[in-house]
Amino acid sequence: MAKGLIFLGAPGSGKGTQAVGLADTLAIPHISTGDMLRQAIADGTGLGNQAKGYMDRGELVPDQLILGLIEERLGHKDAKAGWILDGFPRNVNQAIFLDELLVNIGHRTHWVINLKVPDEVIVERLLARGRADDNEATIRNRLLVYTEQTAPLMAYYQEQGKLYSLDGNQPVEAIAASLEKLVKP
Ligand code: ADP
Repeated sequence: MAKGLIFLGAPGSGKGTQAVGLADTLAIPHISTGDMLRQAIADGTGLGNQAKGYMDRGELVPDQLILGLIEERLGHKDAKAGWILDGFPRNVNQAIFLDELLVNIGHRTHWVINLKVPDEVIVERLLARGRADDNEATIRNRLLVYTEQTAPLMAYYQEQGKLYSLDGNQPVEAIAASLEKLVKP
């Protein structure tokens, strides 16, 4: 059965780790817009060049750079069986776009997973990770952008009855076990 999952959760919440693991378990693609953008930067594509400044500042990349990318990716054959979206949608406009796209291609979102982690734990984790955009100023801005633009999606999906929140401040295996229980009835 096709399964559509979205991982919300702040930067550093561990959503990437869990999304990769669960995609593997369910044998469906893990689709991370952050990974796609970092790949575009590494490849020196036009998209990468346009996205880099925003990412370095911890801002969202403009929607028009992201929406077509998602539409194309969800149209791939391997996404027919389901998908896990990690890092998309990130604002209400992207969520509305996704809902419309899914109606058009006959898919739906089954669960939206929110991993809850206290801010101070997040800053600690991101500083330890050391990615190009993991310096303190950028991290603070990403958390602000998350609170202002992405956190409102929780209410959006709560209203659709799809939101599932869990404590992200526990061992990776414990979170993975809760997730598997949820999606493998
Ligand atoms: P994190 O989980 O630490 O926030 P991501 O890899 O998801 O890391 O995202 C890194 C950066 O990529 C974001 O700060 C943003 O600039 C850009 N980005 C990723 N996904 C999106 C998106 N859906 N819309 C706009 N910008 C995005």
